[in-house]
Amino acid sequence: MVIVFKPGAEGNELEKMKKNLEEKGITVSITIGQDQTIFGLIGDTRSLNPGQLELSSVVEKVMRIQEPFKKANRVFHPEDTIVDVMGQKIGGGHFGVIAGPCAIESEEQFLTIARSVKKSGANFLRGGAFKPRTSPYSFQGMGKEGIEIMKIAREETGLPIITEMMAPAHVQQFAEDVDVIQIGARNMQNFDLLKEAGKVKTPVLLKRGLSATFEEFLMAAEYIMSEGNENVILCERGIRTFETWTRNTLDISAVPVIHRKSHLPIVIDPSHAGGIYWIVEPLTKAAVAIGADGITIEVHHKPEEAVSDGQQSLIPEAFDKMMKKVRLLRKAVLEMEK
Ligand code: PEP
Ligand code: MN
Repeated sequence: MVIVFKPGAEGNELEKMKKNLEEKGITVSITIGQDQTIFGLIGDTRSLNPGQLELSSVVEKVMRIQEPFKKANRVFHPEDTIVDVMGQKIGGGHFGVIAGPCAIESEEQFLTIARSVKKSGANFLRGGAFKPRTSPYSFQGMGKEGIEIMKIAREETGLPIITEMMAPAHVQQFAEDVDVIQIGARNMQNFDLLKEAGKVKTPVLLKRGLSATFEEFLMAAEYIMSEGNENVILCERGIRTFETWTRNTLDISAVPVIHRKSHLPIVIDPSHAGGIYWIVEPLTKAAVAIGADGITIEVHHKPEEAVSDGQQSLIPEAFDKMMKKVRLLRKAVLEMEK
């Protein structure tokens, strides 16, 4: 961080500020120019608030040089993080395919979908047991019973299971029962939830908030990582814009931006981004082409009867067809990047 002082700032004022900063463990390197003095701060400046420092009558401008996130930052961790869940990997060249219904509705429903997506090449099973619904009158999920059904599907398919956690109090149970804890878009800045998820070893799929900036997104990951859990997979699921023809706007730039700033893997959720079944395949192709570390897709064998997000779910046949194209495209991308 750099502090630029106003021309003519008094020496004793500068001395006072230097002492304050040093008390916080920061080393101050002073440059005295012809008109202005500059402080270069060395050390951990994450707890400093530039806006607050600018309140001082002698300060002209404060600039951050380093990003406020550290554990998620590629600068401090140049190699890609590979999240390995029961041998299924995401990141560092490993492409993860997460598929399943929006919500778990019954054992028959989940097993039917789980079997079919596995056959088509999915390597993670998704499904909501505790659902974050916009309306309190919509189906809220099967809860614990839903997770029990997922465990049956894991047993049969051998695939890891991913489901959303909404309450900090659930963390121990989730750590025991599931293979990846999903934190949904609406909870991306539920800091108590993030901290609890950081206290267990279970990998976390963290979805970008509806109107979160990339920095806020990475700071949310930082909350989890700073508690000790560094197995975080980021998920771009579309952000809210003025557009109404799609449910959200897929911010495809998330992939190169996150890859540049962070070592964490980033997957794309074209289902929640687009919000309608026919847009899922084109957005998926874009995700593969841009180098995403994976995709998460909603699949339902009877979308017209689904209790949640039927309109954006692919039928198993469509998912299967799409997966063939995903494999072809992925091969081309790898070939191209050689
Ligand atoms: C989901 O994945 O089922 C979900 C609710 O997604 P989001 O949090 O991105 O809306
Ligand atoms: Mn959904």
